[in-house]
Amino acid sequence: MSPAERTPNTVEYDYENQAWTRNGVYETCGHPPEMDCQCYGKIHAGEVAPKQPTARDRFLPYVSFVVDDAGSGRELGADQHAIVREAGDQFTYASRLVGWQCGFEPLFVAVHSYLDVEIDDQDAEEMARDYLEERKWFAGEPTEPDHLIR
Ligand SMILES: [Zn+2]
Repeated sequence: MSPAERTPNTVEYDYENQAWTRNGVYETCGHPPEMDCQCYGKIHAGEVAPKQPTARDRFLPYVSFVVDDAGSGRELGADQHAIVREAGDQFTYASRLVGWQCGFEPLFVAVHSYLDVEIDDQDAEEMARDYLEERKWFAGEPTEPDHLIR
């Protein structure tokens, strides 16, 4: 999360309802009253919005590959360990999600340690990039990832 997202005036977009929120409260859409629009923001202005999905929630559907530090890279779901890990009961460390923008949809690689130790951002990026390069995913030279989500 960038520092800008932590300022008291946090503006977020509720994708589901297509309305803007400020500090978790719906804002009106700004259409003139005579337009009589039925925008969610207008009808629900001032109401507290449900918690918005995190970047991780939004990008999870775009994870295609899983890489771990045991040198294993494969498609998501290729075997029982090829999963996106979440920190909790089963694992101490969640997979880092490393993503590249390609066209309209991003492509993500989930990176974690086979032994469930922490992997830093730089290592995660390198592992993801090396794996995609191995798969000849990049059209030319490998590029820096566009997203890194913890
Ligand atoms: Zn409106």
